[in-house]
Amino acid sequence: MKASSGVMVSAEGVRKSYGLFEALRGVDLTVATGEVLCLIGPSGSGKSTFLRCINHLEKVDAGRLEVDGELVGYREHNGRLYELRDREVCTKRAKIGMVFQRFNLFPHMTAFENVTLAPVSVKGESKAVVAERARALLQRVGLADKLDAYPNQLSGGQQQRVAIARALAMQPKLMLFDEPTSALDPELVGDVLEVMRGLAEEGMTMVVVTHEMGFAREVGDTLAF
Ligand code: ADP
Repeated sequence: MKASSGVMVSAEGVRKSYGLFEALRGVDLTVATGEVLCLIGPSGSGKSTFLRCINHLEKVDAGRLEVDGELVGYREHNGRLYELRDREVCTKRAKIGMVFQRFNLFPHMTAFENVTLAPVSVKGESKAVVAERARALLQRVGLADKLDAYPNQLSGGQQQRVAIARALAMQPKLMLFDEPTSALDPELVGDVLEVMRGLAEEGMTMVVVTHEMGFAREVGDTLAF
């Protein structure tokens, strides 16, 4: 196993096809620890596919993809690759936070319950510790007064900030954002970008698919897809 040596994501010649259609034609990039990389490009250019490969929601067809010095989805032994079992994939995925365009909150759970669910049920952390963390995170995203609100009682921007808090509650080492503001009314975009800007300032490593050129220019290094 390689040491992480300050590189959080490393892709070399990463390819992915859907049938005959090549969505990724050899992606080479690195994301340093603490870096914010914004992926910009036309719809259909493979940005979202690449994000999904990073946390193994999609399987790479060829090339090498590593997160924090470890191959994504495979174990290497004597120069051969062996696919990881589902449980091992889940363990690794738990270290990567993902925020989707359409929030994907659990509709029957309050903001507080959405944020506390995975750390308790997936990581087996103590309820008291997680509850305290959830309150702090919801406060940090500006929703201290919305702990008991259900998703349908919140605006899109508020839901997206709950989704960010939910991802952070797992204490990930890497955060992936897939067009996090594209589904929002324009007046709600700013608060979400503000939370993301704060995360970047605190040194979170982030890969962000976005059309927000201002944000990308100001906060991140950009890569055209
Ligand atoms: P982007 O995020 O840059 O808009 P995507 O990664 O979503 O691009 O998609 C890249 C291409 O791959 C698109 O042409 C899309 O239609 C195709 N694609 C994405 N996911 C699938 C899938 N699950 N099955 C078949 N084709 C897909």
